[in-house]
Amino acid sequence: MKVVIVGSGYVGLVSGACFSALGHSVVCVDSNAQKINLLNSGGVPIFEPGLDALIKTNIDESRLTFSTDLKSSLKGADFAFIAVGTPTRQGGSEADLTSVYAVASEIALSAEDGLVVVTKSTVPVGTGDAVEAIIRTSRPDLVFAAVSNPEFLKEGSAIDDFMNPDRVVVGCDVPWATEKMKMLYEPLRATGAPILYTGRNAAEVIKYAANAFLAIKISFINEIADFCEAVSADVSEVANGIGQDTRIGRAFLNPGPGYGGSCFPKDSLALLATAQSHSVSLRVVESSIAANDARKRGIGRRVITALGNQVRGKTIAILGLTFKANTDDMREAPSLNIIAALQKMGARVRAYDPEGMEQARHYLQNVDYAENAYDCVAGADGIVVATEWKEFQGLDFARLSSLVSHPVIVDLRNILDSRKVEAAGFELHRIGSPRRAETASIQVTPRLLKPKNTGRVEREHPAANGSVRPAPQPAAV
Ligand code: NAD
Repeated sequence: MKVVIVGSGYVGLVSGACFSALGHSVVCVDSNAQKINLLNSGGVPIFEPGLDALIKTNIDESRLTFSTDLKSSLKGADFAFIAVGTPTRQGGSEADLTSVYAVASEIALSAEDGLVVVTKSTVPVGTGDAVEAIIRTSRPDLVFAAVSNPEFLKEGSAIDDFMNPDRVVVGCDVPWATEKMKMLYEPLRATGAPILYTGRNAAEVIKYAANAFLAIKISFINEIADFCEAVSADVSEVANGIGQDTRIGRAFLNPGPGYGGSCFPKDSLALLATAQSHSVSLRVVESSIAANDARKRGIGRRVITALGNQVRGKTIAILGLTFKANTDDMREAPSLNIIAALQKMGARVRAYDPEGMEQARHYLQNVDYAENAYDCVAGADGIVVATEWKEFQGLDFARLSSLVSHPVIVDLRNILDSRKVEAAGFELHRIGSPRRAETASIQVTPRLLKPKNTGRVEREHPAANGSVRPAPQPAAV
């Protein structure tokens, strides 16, 4: 079957590559000519584990092409997927559907009879009706259907999520289009993936309800972590204790600096806005948004407190910039709040991220970037682990300790082995652990008997020269 995907970002590119791997003939379209040129010359504009190899294989097997020309791409197409961005509308909280509607209008101009127009972008309930109306108004005689097929992939494990989904949701109210969607997803169904057929409105609601629920889980465990600190309990033990309950589940119970990324913040806000427009209160969703905003606003202060309150003129090393591990996506990353707070209090910031530094440069100013974690911490007065990259767990903490000026680590993802870190002489602050509660007010003083900082280091360490790419790992947030 011929599939056209409009929007070749995190969702569009992964979906396009995966549909082609399932045997379909796919054209990924984007209005960004630079992106399409890069793809046509063998490059991949985003970092997603396994994506470059999957794209290459399918280009080589002539199932995957890239184009800026939607009109010619739509010739003979069975499906036109809309996978463009739906950011928060500037100055508001609802989803900005400008790109979705622009693509629907453009599809209408060149669609052929029998086309199924599928919205994969996350869109408020009722958008399918609007997409259908746009096309119908432009082409009253066209035989087409507008379907909702929200995407649930997670950046960092997107290919596996697409190929082995917990479920695929197809929201369709037109029987012939449902049959066509069944054929499209047949290769996945044959491997055991559950495909749920729902009404179009239900599918649109499912996506927002799922994201809001996950965001609520994160806000919940973050608040429980604060409570644990106050009562000398370890939140990891609590998370394991409640997560073993199959009604609750362990996933998304990892406390941290607040959720970020391109989905949870904007989708929770958009859900709330849509509910309000229907005069419905979603108080739990509203509280989760407020809790996360407060957490992200407060996280910088928390870090500064752990670092002994005085950061003016100090160099703080930030390990991890992206909103979560295994992506280069910086959208709404908590590191942005932390760095802003540190800079406001007069700290110098040096940062290292395995994949995110190129993107980070668009979001941050006055930050020095290091080529590896060791260079990043050299001479630093404190280290903050802001993203759960697996390579940070494997660092040589004795070596780190010999490089820093002050041996303090604030682990905002609870990924470090406290015994190893403390054995290397570090004072470790974690989220939701009794130790942090006890030590939060300790003023950090330089160690007297510490070897002088040796400055930049040789690059022989496996993680230090960038030659080792971390294996994909489950995302925490
Ligand atoms: P993105 O910003 O990475 O990609 C969007 C792409 O659409 C860009 O390449 C842009 O150039 C292109 N585009 C915009 N307008 C266009 C137009 N008129 N014609 C052609 N191309 C156009 O966005 P994304 O992260 O892939 O998200 C896309 C949608 O999927 C959003 O609604 C998002 O909420 C949803 N979603 C994202 C994720 C995720 O993890 N990123 C997961 C599930 C769902």
